[in-house]
Amino acid sequence: MMKIFNPATEELIKEIQTDDKSSVQRAHEDLKKGQVEWAAESMSHRLACLRKFMVLLERDKSALGEILSNEVGKPVSQAIGEIGGAIGRISYFVDNFSEVLAPREAHVAPGLIEKVSYDPLGVIANISAWNYPYLVGVNVFVPALLAGNSVLYKPSEFSTLTGLEIERLLLEAGVPSNAFKCIVGTGQVGQVLLGLPLDGYFFTGSYKTGQYIYEQVAPKMVPCQMELGGKDPMFVSEKIQDVKGVAAVAVEGAFYNNGQSCCAVERIYVQESIADEFIAAFIAETKTLKVGDPTEDGIFFGPLSRSEQLDVLEQQVADALAQGAQLELGGKRMDGKGYYFEPTILTNVSHKMAVMKEESFGPVIGIQVVKDEAEAVRLMKDTKYGLTSAIYTTDQEEFEAIASQMNSGTVYWNCCDRVSPHVPWSGRGHSGFGSTLSEEGIKAFVRPKAWQMRTV
Ligand code: NAD
Repeated sequence: MMKIFNPATEELIKEIQTDDKSSVQRAHEDLKKGQVEWAAESMSHRLACLRKFMVLLERDKSALGEILSNEVGKPVSQAIGEIGGAIGRISYFVDNFSEVLAPREAHVAPGLIEKVSYDPLGVIANISAWNYPYLVGVNVFVPALLAGNSVLYKPSEFSTLTGLEIERLLLEAGVPSNAFKCIVGTGQVGQVLLGLPLDGYFFTGSYKTGQYIYEQVAPKMVPCQMELGGKDPMFVSEKIQDVKGVAAVAVEGAFYNNGQSCCAVERIYVQESIADEFIAAFIAETKTLKVGDPTEDGIFFGPLSRSEQLDVLEQQVADALAQGAQLELGGKRMDGKGYYFEPTILTNVSHKMAVMKEESFGPVIGIQVVKDEAEAVRLMKDTKYGLTSAIYTTDQEEFEAIASQMNSGTVYWNCCDRVSPHVPWSGRGHSGFGSTLSEEGIKAFVRPKAWQMRTV
């Protein structure tokens, strides 16, 4: 059995039966049979099921938002917003899927036709995170299902109820129960998947777990994809005109979902001549955002989803202060029930401090003043991670010069903390490898087959 707690109240929401080795093995056997039948269905049938899934998500959005908010602590409005975002991504997939995977003639010469077609991988594991269970989930199981794979879905133990809702709605939408199965449990249940001969492993989560899974999966010689953490930098050039406006956007980028986004702005470098104005505006904007009960209207910061993260944030703040950082706002966990941490702003920070090097995954930000573009580039690149990099400047040449030097899967110009289904979502270094979303994120779930045909 597993207990599910509400991070805002620390009350027990539910006790739930977990899977074990034999139930996971049985699920795998079912999915093996189911995959063959599911892949034999027409593409138009699979597309119709996923279109229906979008309709059902829209129908149940409010109730689903409440369930998600209860188990992860994000404000209900942000939870409902996440479901809306997921519907947008599914819409991209269903609109583009057939074209991206259409068999095509690659080369035709007298007496020779060379063609490419795509086969599904088989039964794939979708081991997922809790911070955006709908968004990171649909990135994987939607294209996987559309391509004719069956999916063994392991939601995070911190978003299990949402995982079960996803399963319920997919089945209601017409996806067979032997094409998609949700298994319940902690990392121990996830571990069982690593012992099975699955045909692909798609992981979203921390670097530590991802590295371990990659090592375990390597001998199987099957596709393995990793969407991991980040320590994403933002540079604010003195060329920007609207300092207050950029500060407001930076606050949202750093603190939306309580900073628990893989692509949250985790460190800011601001140029000297505008630093005082930027920092003052950043602090003032943060103070306008309310912390509190995530079910109440107008709340921006709920509790953290996991109590352990409170310790991580406290340690980062203590380490920064011990090394000379200045605390501009917040800095500690809040009294009372719930895993609340004060929105925290540190200045006078340096790269000797964990807060500028290690993923915070919470409402803590370090703002460092830099002399020029060159210093900003050096510091932005001083990281093991490589998910996104944001550059704020009115000068396109300056943006392109910096962006081309970033070793990150995404570069942003005058925007941040956003994911688009039209372009690949990928990390580098400790942020992982492989892509979801876009054409690349569709082709991740198939194997190409080359047809070389002599016609004479
Ligand atoms: P986590 O690594 O703790 O857990 C992720 C999943 O792995 C969970 O389902 C967990 O039960 C499972 N797991 C744990 N041990 C396992 C094992 N030995 N074998 C198999 N499965 C196991 O991560 P988390 O706390 O759920 O997620 C937060 C992390 O995810 C952050 O680092 C965040 O940046 C990252 N993330 C990245 C992206 C991205 O797109 N790059 C998106 C969302 C979250």
